Amino acid sequence: MSITPSHYNTIKENSVYGRYVVNEQILDFLSRNEDRHQVKTIGSSVQGRPIKSLQMGAGPIKVLMWSQMHGNESTTTKAVLDLVNFLNEGTSVAESILKHCTLLIIPMLNPDGASVYTRVNANQVDLNRDAQERTQPESVVLRGVFDAFQPDYCLNLHDQRTIFNVGLTDKPATVSFLAPAHDPERSISKTRGVSMQLVVAMNQLLQKMIPGQVGRYDDAFNANCIGDSFQMLNVPTILFESGHYPGDYERERTREYIFYALLKVLEVISENNIDAYPQQAYFDIPENGKLFYDILIKNAQVLGEKWGDGEAIGILYVETLKGNTLEFVPSLAKSGKLDGCFGHKTYDCLNEAEREELRQQSFYQLIKA
Ligand SMILES: [Zn+2]
Repeated sequence: MSITPSHYNTIKENSVYGRYVVNEQILDFLSRNEDRHQVKTIGSSVQGRPIKSLQMGAGPIKVLMWSQMHGNESTTTKAVLDLVNFLNEGTSVAESILKHCTLLIIPMLNPDGASVYTRVNANQVDLNRDAQERTQPESVVLRGVFDAFQPDYCLNLHDQRTIFNVGLTDKPATVSFLAPAHDPERSISKTRGVSMQLVVAMNQLLQKMIPGQVGRYDDAFNANCIGDSFQMLNVPTILFESGHYPGDYERERTREYIFYALLKVLEVISENNIDAYPQQAYFDIPENGKLFYDILIKNAQVLGEKWGDGEAIGILYVETLKGNTLEFVPSLAKSGKLDGCFGHKTYDCLNEAEREELRQQSFYQLIKA
């Protein structure tokens, strides 16, 4: 790896932290980079917030990346700012990337959604289902940039919920990738094959840091999804999904892993080293499952007759913006046998100590019988 964790800590952008990241922070960051890079206003959101891009590097290989198309998905945004800081440092790795590549970065495509912490934009539209019709200004902005820049590679940067595990294992999908399909048959075009190779490169690196915690996202084809639509236009596109790392609800650890993945993919692209990574290894990455709850309570019958024998309770946090603070509000998601499911935190009511601990929790009122 071309950067150590302690080096990472020196380039980490401290003006953004946690899950609630808004446009003002991005504008401030970009204004600090205006002297050395091309910062442009590329359009505005439904509510008139500016959408900006930053272009850096002078190489012939063009890489377009955008983050926070879903307003409540900020982890990759934080990682992208870290990436800019790293590339500003002038190390040999940074210089090599900037010599071979031109990067066009849109850190926040959906600033209205970000301000109120929603997936959708201010018209309640999911921009990742608007790639064909482009009914929304944000969708028009992204497509306009795509058409004008004519990227060789696209990186589509997102977050995923805490429910995702890897395969059937109890490992959370801390990072997931997808080489999106370009047709309903999910065939492997040359373009999609390249996307797969790049995912393989990033997976090889991440397995050394978070073994078993990388998943492959569902590749069902949907032309209205932006990644699928760019793949259809023969530009290798990769979907990044930042997921849960144990205990890290602020997603600062995941941010770091996404940064390493971004750096890796840019290194491979800039060194023209893609063929070192076998396409077939893409399928060795297990698919994501949806087997996690934030809190799993087993043998709930012990709590009272409201719960059946062997019944389990799955609780998920609802991410709720209160003022400028994001709260994780526990909500009862499912109860039943829940065999094969996992909890990021698990209580077995047959265990007296765990039962006692459970009684101390604020969510206990949701489940007491
Ligand atoms: Zn998303």
